[in-house]
Amino acid sequence: MSSEIEVVEETVPLKQLSGAVANGNEYGGGHHGVVGDVADDESLKNDVYTAAAYGDLEKLQRLVESEGCSLSEPDGLGYYALQWAALNNRTAAAQYIIEHGGDVHAVDHNGQTALHWSAVRGAVQVAEVLLQEGARVDAAEIYGYQITHVAAQYGQTSFLYHVVSKWNADPDLPDNDGRSPLHWAAYKGFSDCIRLLLFLDAHRGRQDKEGCTPLHWAAIRGNLEACTVLVQAGKMEDLTVTDNSGLTPEQLASEKNHRQVAFFLANARRLLEKRCDGNSRLGRFTRLRLAPFLWCIILLLLATYIQSVIMDANLPKLTAGFSFMAWFGVILASTGLVMFYRCSSKDPGYIKMNVHDPMNMKDDEPLLKIETNNPSLLAGNWSQLCATCKIVRPLRAKHCSTCDRCVEQFDHHCPWVSNCVGKRNKWDFILFLVLEVSAMLITSGVTIARIVKDPSAPSSFFPWMNYAVSHHVGAISFLIVNFFLFFGVAALTVIQASQV
Ligand SMILES: [Zn+2]
Ligand SMILES: [Zn+2]
Repeated sequence: MSSEIEVVEETVPLKQLSGAVANGNEYGGGHHGVVGDVADDESLKNDVYTAAAYGDLEKLQRLVESEGCSLSEPDGLGYYALQWAALNNRTAAAQYIIEHGGDVHAVDHNGQTALHWSAVRGAVQVAEVLLQEGARVDAAEIYGYQITHVAAQYGQTSFLYHVVSKWNADPDLPDNDGRSPLHWAAYKGFSDCIRLLLFLDAHRGRQDKEGCTPLHWAAIRGNLEACTVLVQAGKMEDLTVTDNSGLTPEQLASEKNHRQVAFFLANARRLLEKRCDGNSRLGRFTRLRLAPFLWCIILLLLATYIQSVIMDANLPKLTAGFSFMAWFGVILASTGLVMFYRCSSKDPGYIKMNVHDPMNMKDDEPLLKIETNNPSLLAGNWSQLCATCKIVRPLRAKHCSTCDRCVEQFDHHCPWVSNCVGKRNKWDFILFLVLEVSAMLITSGVTIARIVKDPSAPSSFFPWMNYAVSHHVGAISFLIVNFFLFFGVAALTVIQASQV
């Protein structure tokens, strides 16, 4: 067991309690912290701090203007009226306090400003007021937490997005223990926050003073979704990196008895190991998948059909109408093959990646420019962020783990065509299916009719069976393979669809 990790796990929540994070919890049930809990009016104190917390502007004005209360002094616990207004997103009250002597730079005994408190509940409007009044976006409290740390500790993704995109807050800064907002979001299991931070190019491999990466922390706490998001955006090294006690995230997860997480991480490591082998001959072959195999089968079937059904010398010559049907099947199958080729060779609708650093050396790179007014992000659709491609993808687009790219109107990754089926090749795919299925039905019908109508075959059943097997071996094998291919493809498609 790693004693160091045990210690860390004990100390982190304590630190949180004494840090910025505590404000919401500690005072949440008291007078100041609660939003809208006015039921217990009698217990409300007649002071500026309570008035600020409840956004009671009238009371605030009365206290300041008639009773001469100060807005620049802290309360008995050392917290300022502006902090209470910020915690509860009381914009008008905050503005009033600033205009009447409240200082946006004032810090409590933890070194926290009103801006830190606004991050606890993601109070964007009040943060906007504070920042416009000159509050420092990079103010750090005694543990080195800036507002981005606090927002990550509380999963305030919209707040984080706002202060980073509009006010250039640093989303990837270590606190005094070397932990970045990504460490905190992973530790707390806020996966949307993790998505945004990864999108903002936060360094996945950063190790805190315990040597732990964000993935270590997600694994220690058993946050499966957080691990999934981190691993999907990650590389092999993320899974094998060890902390100061020499343990990988996977080992830590199993030590803490988070079996699902340990299983997931082990699986991810195996998959990535296989993908790293991609340059070997076997690797190249597995990437080819089933397309060449399917090509061979269809061509072989067509050849057998033409030779053993249409051209068979033992069978009577085809009538004009029947001949048309028989060749029509061949034409359908061949056109289907053209569609098959188009579907597997076309770009299915890959979305251009926005990744500047193929070697993943995040720290030396300037932050990517992000769109400040992206409607999807303003609406809080964080799942539209792709941490791997570094893009805000359109609705219905998804990241294909096989191709490792985002695909527009992603339907599924089809192993039969060895390609994704998406916006640009979905019609080719549908046409391919329709043409091949029609061809299968027509050619099977023609084959059965040809065998049954053979004039030299005996009339009773068992001798007829013997005759058919010995004289029409090609046609019968064609029928059987056709049958299995039809149901095989159908079954695999159903299995795949049910797994998505
Ligand atoms: Zn993607
Ligand atoms: Zn794909």
